[in-house]
Amino acid sequence: MKIFLFLILINTLIFSQELSYSKQFLKDSLLAIVINDTINPGEKFHAYYLMHRDTMLTQAEDMELFWDVWKDLKEASDTLLVKDSAVNKWVFPVEGYGTGDIGGGGTGYITGEYDYFKKGAKGFIHPAHDIFVRDRNQDNLDDRTGKPVYILSVNDGIVITVNTGWTPQSTLKGGNYIYIYDPYMDAMVYYAHNDSVFVKPGDLVKRGDKIATMGRTGLNAYPKRSPTHLHFMTLKIENGYPRPYNPLPELKDSEFRMPE
Ligand SMILES: [Zn+2]
Repeated sequence: MKIFLFLILINTLIFSQELSYSKQFLKDSLLAIVINDTINPGEKFHAYYLMHRDTMLTQAEDMELFWDVWKDLKEASDTLLVKDSAVNKWVFPVEGYGTGDIGGGGTGYITGEYDYFKKGAKGFIHPAHDIFVRDRNQDNLDDRTGKPVYILSVNDGIVITVNTGWTPQSTLKGGNYIYIYDPYMDAMVYYAHNDSVFVKPGDLVKRGDKIATMGRTGLNAYPKRSPTHLHFMTLKIENGYPRPYNPLPELKDSEFRMPE
């Protein structure tokens, strides 16, 4: 039994003045999932991530809960996934495209003051690569084929959280996003602005699996000024702390896949 998590639960039940009643009720329900050892680690992470994303946690709670769900993921991946160094070579995350389609030739990666546990970093930050496709009329279809562009999982992993059903009324920047835990790199791999999402928390994916179609979802990806692209980020977990990692070498070295 995770004593610390239990204490957080009790604490929030007693001292609930910080959040509105309905938000507190939601937080308690999500915490109950996080401390339930019969629930799979991907779904647990998803419950935790909703609290992180929607700022229901103090920074101390956030860090403790992250540590806990990350430990569970590491443990699960030891038994669920075959650790084979041969699979470490990535598949490029956008089918039919390659290194040349990375925004600014890879110069669009700006870490700045990004801190996973702190909101509101100053200045422009973009600890990610945008991968652009040919979609001049912005209908989410490849101008060359008239078909959707598939987003592929770069590596084997566990789906840890997704968002679906984004509408232009939502202020979520990532739109319909996916986070996958990559046990080989010990990293969270983020795919944002998707149209349809094919995976759910707890799913195991293999490298090259189709996980979504490219879309234009998200606060800044939806307006006309934004060309259709995948926002791709990796956060390497260093001693329980997710830190931005520039995956340009892995992207350049990855295997490119063409549509069948
Ligand atoms: Zn981006």
